Amino acid sequence: MTFKITIDKEKCIGCGACVATCDNYELKDGKAIAKKTEVKELGCNQEAADSCPVDAITVKEVE
Ligand code: SF4
Repeated sequence: MTFKITIDKEKCIGCGACVATCDNYELKDGKAIAKKTEVKELGCNQEAADSCPVDAITVKEVE
């Protein structure tokens, strides 16, 4: 299985919750970015998405 991670930069307020929750995220210029946008294992990515107060992170199964 592959999961695709997208972050809506318009929505992101740079709160850092995803960064604190999951090591696949980092802040760049006040916005979150995913280090890996496609992962084979969900790992902590769903928790990161759940931690986002503005629902900017989408985790979608692509196959
Ligand atoms: S938790 Fe959401 S709003 Fe906060 S930095 Fe991450 S993507 Fe942005």
